[in-house]
Amino acid sequence: MPNRTLLIAGNWKMNNDVAEAAKLADELAQALPEVPAGVEVLVCPPTIDITTVHDRIQAAPIALGAQNVYWEAKGAFTGESSCDMLKSAGCTYCIIGHSERRDYFHETDEDQNKKAKALVAAGLVPVFCCGESLEVREAGTYVEHVVNQVKAGLAGLEITCPKQVVVAYEPIWAIGTGRTASPEQAEEVCESIRAAVRKLYSSKNARAISILYGGSMNDKNAFELLAQPDIDGGLIGGASLVPEKFVKIIEAANQPNE
Ligand code: PEP
Repeated sequence: MPNRTLLIAGNWKMNNDVAEAAKLADELAQALPEVPAGVEVLVCPPTIDITTVHDRIQAAPIALGAQNVYWEAKGAFTGESSCDMLKSAGCTYCIIGHSERRDYFHETDEDQNKKAKALVAAGLVPVFCCGESLEVREAGTYVEHVVNQVKAGLAGLEITCPKQVVVAYEPIWAIGTGRTASPEQAEEVCESIRAAVRKLYSSKNARAISILYGGSMNDKNAFELLAQPDIDGGLIGGASLVPEKFVKIIEAANQPNE
C-alpha cells in the first residue's frame, strides 16, 4: 500500500459557546504541539466559534473547518456564510452533506453538489458526507445508496489534485449511537466509494482522495478502523469534544503503513 496521510477530523456540531470553544481549542493546541508525520488534524467548530478557535490553534498543527456553507457569494441569505467568509476566518475545510443537515434541514444531493463546487472554486476542501439509514442497511441496498450520493454530490466537480476533496462515509445508524460499523462493514463501503470516485476521476486521484469513516469512532475502535486499506481517517463527533479521546484517536492513526 502506498504511504498515505490519515485525516483525523473533529465535528463539534452545535456544542461549545465561545468560552468553551476557546478552552477546548487551547487544550488541543497544548496537547498537540506537533502531530505525527502522516497524520493531519482538523477541527470543525460551530460557525460562531470559528474565529476564536482560529486564534487559539494558529500556532498548532491543526487545520480549521466549518460545518456548513452557502454556495452564493453574498447577499440576502439570512443566517448563511459564504466560502469567502469562511476563508477569511481561517478555514481551509468545510463539512457538507452531513446526515443531520440532510435530515433536519432537508438538504438535497443537489444542494451538496452546489456547495462542493463553490468550495472547490474558492480553494476550500469539502468534506463530503454520505451514508445510509438503518432501514437502507437492512434492505441490503446500502452500497448503491451511498454510491449514488457520491455520484450526485460530486457530479461535474472538477479537481486537479486529489487533496481538493475529502469523502466521509458515515452510516446514520452509527452516528452518535455508540454502535460503530465493524471495520469490515466500513471498509466494504469505503472501497465501493473509491471505485465510484475512480469512475469520476482518474485512478491516481481515486487512490489519493481521502475517504474517512465516521460513526461512533472513539479511542477504543479507531486503530482497527484506520487500519483498513480504504479508510484514510475519521470524522469524529462525540469523542472530538474530549481532548484525551481525540488525542488517542490521533495516536491510533500514527500506525505504520504496510
Ligand atoms: C458525526 O456526526 O460526524 C459523527 C461521526 O458523530 P459521532 O462520532 O458522535 O458518532
